Amino acid sequence: MRKCLVCEKGNLEKVEDIVLDIEGYVFVVKGERCNKCKEEFPYEEETQKTITTARKLGVWPEPMKLYRHLSKSGGGLVFRIPTDLEKQLKLDDKTEIGITKVGNKIIIEPEK
Ligand SMILES: [Zn+2]
Repeated sequence: MRKCLVCEKGNLEKVEDIVLDIEGYVFVVKGERCNKCKEEFPYEEETQKTITTARKLGVWPEPMKLYRHLSKSGGGLVFRIPTDLEKQLKLDDKTEIGITKVGNKIIIEPEK
């Protein structure tokens, strides 16, 4: 049994009825649920499958918000582009990108 990362009290139980609601489409996936706080943790591959299915249905919400950490390299900070965005936007190591600072946001635009 794995301990819940959210409440740190409950145990995670295997469940097959986690409901993901994406733009009104309901997906039922496998994962784990905390027996205390009821927090649900769908399995990574299940989430990926759901995303793929949702994209096929054209319901994956955009803009999609992703969370990434920056890593240190050669004294600077490096931002890694998520693989699915890399594929979606057909980016490679020759892609030139424009960086715009808007308030406290950073917009990264591939220049084609
Ligand atoms: Zn919990």
